[in-house]
Amino acid sequence: MASSLTTNMGTIQITLPDGATREVPSGTTPAQIAGQISPRLAKEALVARANGDLVDLSRPLDHDVKLSILTSKDPDAVQVLRHSAAHLLAAAVLELYPNVKLGIGPPIETGFFYEFLRDQPFTPEDLEKIEAKMRELAAQNIPNERKLLPKAEALELYRQSQQEFKCELVEEKATEPMVSFYTTGKFIDFCRGPHIPSTGRIKAFKLMSVAGAYWKGQESNPQMQRIYAACFVEPKELEEYLHKLEEAKRRDHRRVGKELGLFTVSDQVGSGLPLWLPKGATIRRLLEDYILEREREAGYQHVYTPDLAKVDLYKRSGHWEHYHEDMFPPMDLETEQLVLRPMNCPHHILVYESRKHSYRELPVRIAELGTMYRYERSGVLSGLSRVRVMTLNDAHIFCTPEQIKEEFAGVMRLVERAYRDLGITQYSYRLSLRDKVNTGKYVKNDEMWDLAERVLREAMDSLGLPYTEAPGEAAFYGPKLDIQLADVMGHQETYSTIQIDFHLPNQFQLGYVGADGQEHRPVMIHRGVISTMERMVSYLIELYAGAFPAWLAPVQAIVLPITERQNEYAREVHRKLLASGARAEVDERNEKLQAKIRDAQLQKIPYMLVTGGKEAEAGTVSVRHRSKGDLGPRPVDEFVADLKQEVDSRAIQ
Ligand SMILES: [Zn+2]
Ligand SMILES: [Zn+2]
Repeated sequence: MASSLTTNMGTIQITLPDGATREVPSGTTPAQIAGQISPRLAKEALVARANGDLVDLSRPLDHDVKLSILTSKDPDAVQVLRHSAAHLLAAAVLELYPNVKLGIGPPIETGFFYEFLRDQPFTPEDLEKIEAKMRELAAQNIPNERKLLPKAEALELYRQSQQEFKCELVEEKATEPMVSFYTTGKFIDFCRGPHIPSTGRIKAFKLMSVAGAYWKGQESNPQMQRIYAACFVEPKELEEYLHKLEEAKRRDHRRVGKELGLFTVSDQVGSGLPLWLPKGATIRRLLEDYILEREREAGYQHVYTPDLAKVDLYKRSGHWEHYHEDMFPPMDLETEQLVLRPMNCPHHILVYESRKHSYRELPVRIAELGTMYRYERSGVLSGLSRVRVMTLNDAHIFCTPEQIKEEFAGVMRLVERAYRDLGITQYSYRLSLRDKVNTGKYVKNDEMWDLAERVLREAMDSLGLPYTEAPGEAAFYGPKLDIQLADVMGHQETYSTIQIDFHLPNQFQLGYVGADGQEHRPVMIHRGVISTMERMVSYLIELYAGAFPAWLAPVQAIVLPITERQNEYAREVHRKLLASGARAEVDERNEKLQAKIRDAQLQKIPYMLVTGGKEAEAGTVSVRHRSKGDLGPRPVDEFVADLKQEVDSRAIQ
């Protein structure tokens, strides 16, 4: 066995990414090849890719390969570094707490975790100690070395050290007679690798949290403690990430929503069923009024339809077959079975069907702030952003095939206008297609899918808009164009969507009378412009960290009398504000002005109107803006007129 490296002497051919080839002796390592290419590459190299597989830089190559040397510029190499950092964590924990039992330790999106079984919980102080130990071991630049052991020996090794979870893993995962291990100093781990050459490159990491997790995710198994860490290549990247995390916490809509009294979730109502408090309800109503107005201008007709329907309706539409896992179970009533609707499409189809249509009336645009019910699993529910009852700014356009492009462009204009007015600037377009391998989720009709896909692409191309493609993200009845908004952490979610659907018109045998006097099938466009009220409000809370522009602020101005003597004058100013349509309050509490200002700042009210003796005499208010500070005294009528102008123009700050 020891001679395996020397048996096939001779040379092998290495093909580099630029196509250049090199003849090298068999047994040459990627590290040596990196050194031949440039000393700098040798220094920066983390791992190599040989014929598509990631391998250690120290792995001897014994046959012709396509080889790339990977540095931190390659995302796969960064994941390898994170995996090596997970080993470093386990090594540090074992040095400090030799009796812990090891679970698994993979890289994750922004770092890594390792899981341990230990009687006492890890405390924040423990994490500090562990992190310090990791830094100590990293500074020693200990090599990560690969070893092969016969399976029986591997099991024996773990049995002796009483690492029963590792024994389990070796039993299950080791399919070949020889088992691969990695050592970092005294630490040894059953692992396929690869790893970076040594611990010295692990500089930018921070232990973040401890969370309980059942071994292998099964509740009957012991509960492990997972230590989560953030880890990047450069300290600057880690700093940026931690800063973003702070920012995300500061803006978290659940926290801000509570501080500003926008919504609440009650155990007695149930999870995923938020209650809109007066201030949150105000924002929602403003959004609803806003979008209804834009739709009226764009030729939509608004309807009201019931929140539930017979199950048979959803059987006919295909929702029952393709979507029932996301629906609430049906209710038995006398002879009927009713179900809460998960989507509004079938109702709007019936609105269209309620009378005959001629080609001259098309497109017919039917819109509704439609409330829908979806059975989201309890684990994913969160504030307003993941809920079980939601109201969608929904519409369905019934048009001729020739009208698709123009209707599509019209919806895009609506989206862009709404985003501009709401101050949303960070978004991208995603073409969501069906998964061509896993077709079970989708209605079967290849021809229809190809057509809908082509029409969508053409519509996007004719608008000259860039988009990415996402297989597997289509609706069950057709592909869609999704407009993705990113949060502070860069996570993208779909907010607006346009779907071209040839399926449901067929299912419901929809028709219109064409110019030729014959019956034709319309096309259906499903679209949502500002998403659900729940989701959009949660997004806006985070976008503005609660400091809404005046047109969306639940309270736009608060009058602050300095002493009781100005209460009467303050009420007069308040009345004028209300009469102009402004949303205003008066703070008549027996508090110092500083305290009143501080509280108004915390409530993120755009304008504070200080009214003292001088102001009462002159008929003015001293205006203070929440971010611009003191703006000086202004005649009341002038301030009221300016505020109205700011609100009517929907100024963003
Ligand atoms: Zn590993
Ligand atoms: Zn729909």
